[in-house]
Amino acid sequence: MSAPARGEVWDVVIVGGGPAGLAAAEIAAARGRGVLVLEQKPSLGRKLLMAGKSGLNLTMEMAAERFVNAYRGSHADAVCAAVSAFGPAQLRAWAAGLGVETFVGSSGKIFPKELKASPLLRAWIARLQRMGVSVRTRARLIGLERETDPACWRLDVETSQRADGLALETQQTALRAKAVLLAMGGASWPRLGSDGMWRPMLTEMGVDQQPLAASNVGWNIAWSDIFRARFAGAPLKNIALRVGEHSMRGELTVTDYGLEGGPLYALRAEIERAQGRCALDLAPDRSLSAIQAGLAQPPGKASLSNWLRKRSGLDPAKIGLLRECASIGATPALATRIKALPLQLGDKRPIAEAISCAGGVSGAALDADHMLRCAPGVFCAGEMTDWDAPTGGWLLTGCMALGRAAGASAAAWSLAAPTPS
Ligand SMILES: Cc1cc2nc3c(=O)[nH]c(=O)nc-3n(C[C@H](O)[C@H](O)[C@H](O)COP(=O)(O)OP(=O)(O)OC[C@H]3O[C@@H](n4cnc5c(N)ncnc54)[C@H](O)[C@@H]3O)c2cc1C
Repeated sequence: MSAPARGEVWDVVIVGGGPAGLAAAEIAAARGRGVLVLEQKPSLGRKLLMAGKSGLNLTMEMAAERFVNAYRGSHADAVCAAVSAFGPAQLRAWAAGLGVETFVGSSGKIFPKELKASPLLRAWIARLQRMGVSVRTRARLIGLERETDPACWRLDVETSQRADGLALETQQTALRAKAVLLAMGGASWPRLGSDGMWRPMLTEMGVDQQPLAASNVGWNIAWSDIFRARFAGAPLKNIALRVGEHSMRGELTVTDYGLEGGPLYALRAEIERAQGRCALDLAPDRSLSAIQAGLAQPPGKASLSNWLRKRSGLDPAKIGLLRECASIGATPALATRIKALPLQLGDKRPIAEAISCAGGVSGAALDADHMLRCAPGVFCAGEMTDWDAPTGGWLLTGCMALGRAAGASAAAWSLAAPTPS
């Protein structure tokens, strides 16, 4: 490994070019620090771009005091504190400052008007460039070591580039930093960069971590071939998912392996505790007696499906699900099934398919400035720390708020640190 090149001493090196890392870079640069972002992929913000494919739910129209109630995990208090300083209103104003107009969609979700991430990411990167932030892509952090005289951090970095436009050549270099900010993401969608490979490095440094687990993820259900062929891809609109005492309304989507959707994501922990036992209310806006009254007239010559569709107002996917999950007929029990259709979920889908991760660097390993207690000068932010939240904008808001808070701390630390020779 070569020694750090002369001049390769940065005030703040940020590892990870996702929303948390870029938010940290913006704040540290705004405080006048020399900032370098290392990103192992060929470009920044790949997961953010992927989030843009479903419209980019940036945040939620909700007062910060209510918004923070959704955060869970050992680092949740820190996320709540960060979100109190940079919550939904501030994020919206920040996007507007980048020239990205937003709108409030159904159930208060806030999206960019263009329903994609690329304009926002482009404007953000351009702003960072104007602020003097340096970026190295295809640069993977592989080692982090403390130097003592004077105190700084040595980062071992593997860089890769295409030689002659063909083979990928890798090289190892080292650089030094007064403060290091780790924002390397969780372990979902590893092909976008966040592969969770940082865990052994932090374990070796003595950093306490919770295991990474899939969150905001679909569940397997052993559908019959007939149901799968007919309904995979169909939405189940306006349902209520009930797990024990908990209930959540929203929309689910039938997939070839099972079900996906907001209510399942939000009630993950409850579903795990109930070992997958839950129930669906297929007509949450109608009372049991109203449904019973609607079904009072017998089907006569009509098929069961046609009669159900006309008399209950259920669409074909909901009727298909009723038939898939319960043996039904034109009996008095049918209305009860519509209001509480028992559903047994199988396993969660794998972490690589999850929208986000629970687990990561535990709250106890970090101080109030987001600095690792066992590694003074090293800060952590974003999804790699142990907190969890449902989809609906809580993830991006939490990552950015943490990035900004940790970025401010890293900037202050680097300002107070002596300059290594
Ligand atoms: C399909 C999908 C849809 C989503 N939709 C939404 C949504 O609508 N709203 C919402 O709030 N959230 C959404 N999310 C979640 C959101 O995108 C993430 O929570 C967020 O991107 C996490 O930000 P982060 O900066 O912590 O990590 P990441 O965005 O994962 O960035 C981490 C970066 O670190 C880099 N890195 C990792 N290790 C190293 C290393 N050793 N050296 C150098 N670089 C490294 C990675 O390559 C990566 O670019 C979605 C996620 C997915 C997968």
